[in-house]
Amino acid sequence: MRVAVFSDVHGNLAALEAVLGAIDAETPDTVWCLGDLVGYGPKPNECTALVSERVSVCLCGNHDLGVLGTIDLSEFSGDAGAAARWTQTVLEASARSYLESLEPQGEAEGIALYHGSARDPVWEYVLSGDAAVATLRLTQAQIALVGHSHVALEVRWQDVLVEGGLAAGGTELELDGARWLMNPGSVGQPRDGDPRAAFLLLDLGTQQAVFHRIEYDIERTQAELREVGLPEALAVRLGLGQ
Ligand code: ZN
Repeated sequence: MRVAVFSDVHGNLAALEAVLGAIDAETPDTVWCLGDLVGYGPKPNECTALVSERVSVCLCGNHDLGVLGTIDLSEFSGDAGAAARWTQTVLEASARSYLESLEPQGEAEGIALYHGSARDPVWEYVLSGDAAVATLRLTQAQIALVGHSHVALEVRWQDVLVEGGLAAGGTELELDGARWLMNPGSVGQPRDGDPRAAFLLLDLGTQQAVFHRIEYDIERTQAELREVGLPEALAVRLGLGQ
């Protein structure tokens, strides 16, 4: 079983199309998404439709829940809140009903899936070994996958040994039946200094994982952001991968 996993699309259609094209070339058996389809980006309806067509397992994230009104938007910072309020004004009924059908945690093929973490599936950012182990302690699954931080990450936990860190594009891991927490990184708003869109390919048979980064037309998304009047800082950060 080969699984492609991506997360944090954030209404960035150019990035999503590029990632789905690259995933197609890998011919995985199934595709999963770890949430935050909307928020920040200019194409929430198009991205939600495409994810709903192409993904067999999908979580929701804090931005999806904010746009739906499940989470109060006072919990969001300036540009995030502004983008969520704009998204509310354009979200179509079909996108809304798909987002409403999603949960922030799940399980598939024996792998635990969280938008944030096992401790807090909606809000916790897993960015340290301690936080990764805390999530792995709360599940029996060999592998836990998280999104939310927009930072590609791999942490291996065995007895008292915790190893890992940022997972740059091209990182290949032998999973060897050990316990792992991984974050594929973000499709639509990477924050690890690499502006390319991210996804993760898992081979559960051979126990291998490969972190991929894909070039996409950043200027197209920046132009689309400006066209709908979203904050300029959201366009600038795409070029920086921050
Ligand atoms: Zn996000």
